[in-house]
Amino acid sequence: EPAPEPTPEPSLEARRAYELDRAHVFHSWSAQAELDPMVVTAAEGSYVWDGAGRRLLDFSSQLVNTNIGHQHPRVVEAIQTQAGRLCTVAPQHVNDQRSEAARLIAELAPGDLNRVFFTNGGAEAVEYAVRMARLHTGRHKVLSRYRSYHGGTHTAVNITGDPRRWPNDQGAAGTVHFFGPFPYRSPFHSASPEEETERALEHLEQLIGFEGPDAIAAIVLEPIPGTAGIMPPPPGYLTGVRELADRYGIVLIADEVMSGFGRTGRWFAVDHDGVVPDLMTFAKGVNSGYVPLGGVAISERIAATFAHRPFPGGLTYSGHPLATAAAVATIEAMRDEKTVENAAHIGEAVLGPGLRALAERHPSVGDVRGLGVFWAVELVADRATKEPLAPYGGTSVAMGELVAACKAAGLLPFVNYHRLHAVPPCTVSEAEAREGLALLDRALETADRHVRAH
Ligand code: PLP
Repeated sequence: EPAPEPTPEPSLEARRAYELDRAHVFHSWSAQAELDPMVVTAAEGSYVWDGAGRRLLDFSSQLVNTNIGHQHPRVVEAIQTQAGRLCTVAPQHVNDQRSEAARLIAELAPGDLNRVFFTNGGAEAVEYAVRMARLHTGRHKVLSRYRSYHGGTHTAVNITGDPRRWPNDQGAAGTVHFFGPFPYRSPFHSASPEEETERALEHLEQLIGFEGPDAIAAIVLEPIPGTAGIMPPPPGYLTGVRELADRYGIVLIADEVMSGFGRTGRWFAVDHDGVVPDLMTFAKGVNSGYVPLGGVAISERIAATFAHRPFPGGLTYSGHPLATAAAVATIEAMRDEKTVENAAHIGEAVLGPGLRALAERHPSVGDVRGLGVFWAVELVADRATKEPLAPYGGTSVAMGELVAACKAAGLLPFVNYHRLHAVPPCTVSEAEAREGLALLDRALETADRHVRAH
C-alpha cells in the first residue's frame, strides 16, 4: 500500500476511530478520561503514520516490540500463508510452525534451554516461569528487583519493582524485592561500577540469608532492566547472581521479554556476560509482535521435573500457528539480514556517541545509558542534585511538553516518568538513527527550559 498523504486535519476514518476508541476502548495503565491517544493508521520499517497522514519516526518500536521493523514482507507473507493453511490448532496437537519455532528458539537460547513453553505474551511467560520454579524446587519465595517490570497479571505485577505494583499489591505471598545495581542513582552509594557490583551482590546474599535460602524458589531479573530505566549491569553482576543462585539451589529466571531477540545487539542480553539462566522468558521481539506470542525457554534439568509428573498449567492459544509462523519468519529474516549485528552497530556507531553528544549540549539530560538499540535518556531539573524532571511514578508539565515537542518534530519516543527511551527497531538505518538524534536535539530544548537556574 502507498504511504498515506499528509492532510491538514485527521481523516474522517481517523476521527471515527478516535471517537469510538474514546467511547468504548478501556486503555492500559491510564485514567480513562484524561487520555488523548494518537491514531496510527499505517506503518512501514522505522516509521508510523498518524490519523492526518503525518509520518513519525518510531523510536518506541511500539512498546519496544517491533525489533524487525514494521510490516516486514517476509513476516507478513508467512502470516498470510499460514492463515490460508491452518488458522488454529489446540495445544495438545503437533503443528509444524510451533515445532520449528521451538527448534529455532532452542538453537538461539544459551546453554541447555532446549524446551519451550509458549504463551501469548510476557506476563504469562513470567507467571509460568515462576510456577515452574516453585514446583521444581518445592519452595515458594520469589526474589525480584526494585526498578523492574515483569507484566500486569497477578504474580508478574507483584514481582514488578515499579509503582504500578502498589495499587495491585494484595500482599502476594512470598514476593520479596531487592536492590539491583544502578551506578547513576546508586542505592549503595558506591564510588565505582566495580564497588556497585560488590555491594549489590553482598546485599542480595544478605537478603537470601534473612529470607531463608531453603524457602526461595527463584530470583527473577531482567538482565538489563528495560521499562524501569535501561540499566546495563556493571561488570560481574550477572555472573555473581548466577553464582549465588547456584550456591543456594535457587532457580535463576532471566526475563528477556524486552531485552531479547536482538534489542541489545546480541540475541539475548545474558549473552553479553555468558550467563545461562535456568529459565528464560521472552515475548515481543520473538516475532516483533505481529501476532501475540511469548514463552519460557526451559533447561533440561527443570524440564525433567515434569517428565513423569504432569505440568499443571496451559493455555488454549499456546504455540498458536499464526504467531509461531510469524516467529519462524522473523528469526530467519533476522539471521539472513544480520539484524542483530545491525542493532549492535547502530548502538556503537550512531546512538551511543550521538546521545552522549546530546547530553553534553542539553542541561536537562542527567544520564545517557544503553547499548544496541536500547537507550535511556534520563531527564533532570538539576544535574547536581539529579532531581528528576518528573516524580518517580508520575508525570510533569515538563515531560508532557517534551513528548509533545518530539511528536511535533516527527519523532515517537518511549517515555516512562522522567525518562525518554530511544528504542527504534533493530533494523533502523544509520540515516534514520541520525534523523532521530536531530529531532531529539531540537525537542530537548523544550526540556532545557525547565532546568533550575543556579
Ligand atoms: N517482562 C518484561 C521485562 C517486560 O518488559 C514486559 C513488558 O513490557 C513484560 C514482562 C510483560 O509483557 P506483556 O506486556 O507482553 O505481558
